[in-house]
Amino acid sequence: MNDLSASPALIERLKSAVGERNVITDDHGREPFENDWRGQFHGRAAAIVKPASTDEVARVVQMLAKERVGIVPQGGNTSLCGGSVPDASGRQVVVNLSRMNRVRAVDPANNTMTVEAGCVLATLQQAADEHDRLFPLSLGAEGSCEIGGNLSTNAGGTGVLRYGNTRELVLGLEVVLPDGRVWDGLRALRKDNTGYDLKHLFVGAEGTLGIITAAVLKLFAKPRSQATALVAVESPDAALKLLAKLRESVGERVTGFELISRICLDLVFRHIPNTRDPLGCASAWYVLVELSDSTQGSTLDNLLEQALGSAAEAGLATDAVLAASDTQRKALWALRENVSEAQKLDGVSIKHDVSVPVSRVPEFIERASAALLKKFPDIRIVAFGHMGDGNVHYNCGKSQADQASRFYGESPEVNHIVYEVVNDLNGSISAEHGLGVLKVDEIKRYKSALELDLMRAIKKTLDPDGIMNPGKVL
Ligand SMILES: Cc1cc2nc3c(=O)[nH]c(=O)nc-3n(C[C@H](O)[C@H](O)[C@H](O)COP(=O)(O)OP(=O)(O)OC[C@H]3O[C@@H](n4cnc5c(N)ncnc54)[C@H](O)[C@@H]3O)c2cc1C
Repeated sequence: MNDLSASPALIERLKSAVGERNVITDDHGREPFENDWRGQFHGRAAAIVKPASTDEVARVVQMLAKERVGIVPQGGNTSLCGGSVPDASGRQVVVNLSRMNRVRAVDPANNTMTVEAGCVLATLQQAADEHDRLFPLSLGAEGSCEIGGNLSTNAGGTGVLRYGNTRELVLGLEVVLPDGRVWDGLRALRKDNTGYDLKHLFVGAEGTLGIITAAVLKLFAKPRSQATALVAVESPDAALKLLAKLRESVGERVTGFELISRICLDLVFRHIPNTRDPLGCASAWYVLVELSDSTQGSTLDNLLEQALGSAAEAGLATDAVLAASDTQRKALWALRENVSEAQKLDGVSIKHDVSVPVSRVPEFIERASAALLKKFPDIRIVAFGHMGDGNVHYNCGKSQADQASRFYGESPEVNHIVYEVVNDLNGSISAEHGLGVLKVDEIKRYKSALELDLMRAIKKTLDPDGIMNPGKVL
């Protein structure tokens, strides 16, 4: 990409493509699109452009490509790695997809829906529900993140254990390529072995290969019964054994298995109104377990109660509370889903979204914590995550806000300690949030030269001028 910025003439052309009010150039109007959710990444864009159709996206991209202006695709702007904000040059243009928010079609017999990239995740869950189906992607940001962003980050969340991450929920894509051509890959097929599966290039590409404008998503049978419990366990190792035991006794009905450390719950109780400890005594660790079944009247509560009873006898669970109503179920999930928000309200911390083989999660937590405590004896480790997927959110800080801000300067050393353990366990330094700008340098240490070469070759083929989300991922 060269240094050309969006000239006044280009801004006028963009306005003619999408309408004057959908090109935002004033400081105040641009501000929400230039800063990330955590308040850690701040950029400055030449303009924010909000197209409402695939055709408009294509025209906008053609105009920007012609002048080699950097394009930052953006959905709900909930990225946790700075992927969705422009750099500080004032030259890049943010293309925000939020106005492309139509559900184009639902096909219950094919168990699919075709949706536009700017649909908010929660509205898609609702659209599926209205057709008596489930769209299982679920994460803490679901009220504001958009499906284009979910696809571009290959988002995970709490349903991965049973349904897979976003990559596994998509059958087809429509993408505006960096030169403005539209690839119509909106096929709703479960079998299609006709060469390279191109859609997977764009899933998880974080907007570096093109702009996703629409997708065909898989739908599933709605769960008719659910049983949910918060279970106190002594250690991550006990949690791992509990997971194995549950899978032996209730198999695929285990749809959620979230590990939560006590510190997480304390932060939630401190910062999130109307939350309380549903168990009498504090424990160092907990798991939020959920079983689901698509058959009506199934006796999941009994199954879970029995399974937890035998886990307690085996010394794997020390206490548990089962949700007796949907309200109680939601209250238990709120404890888990509010951990990120509570942490944000508590102050800064050095975050890690890592994965290791499920069987090695306890070893990761033990080794990383020991190494960090040796170097930083008063560190506060806030660990939680999707244990059933081997994904730990492993956040490091201090209990006092002023100390925490200073400690943030230790990020390189803290990251190094954590990522070396991850690497040693054949894990990944980004399980579900992506690389964005946050990990763009770090990844060079942990991906092989060959893998990076292949990634660069793909980027060069699709985006030879490097205009798509410059500075992210590679
Ligand atoms: C409270 C909270 C909880 C979260 N929990 C989870 C979690 O459990 N699991 C998880 O995986 N993530 C989680 N996240 C991170 C975030 O919500 C996800 O990464 C989400 O998928 C981003 O969607 P978005 O629409 O906000 O995308 P954005 O933040 O706008 O963009 C994310 C990336 O995708 C690119 N992009 C966006 N739209 C498009 C498009 N149409 N075409 C091409 N590229 C595009 C952007 O350039 C950027 O690189 C959480 C975030 C918050 C704030």
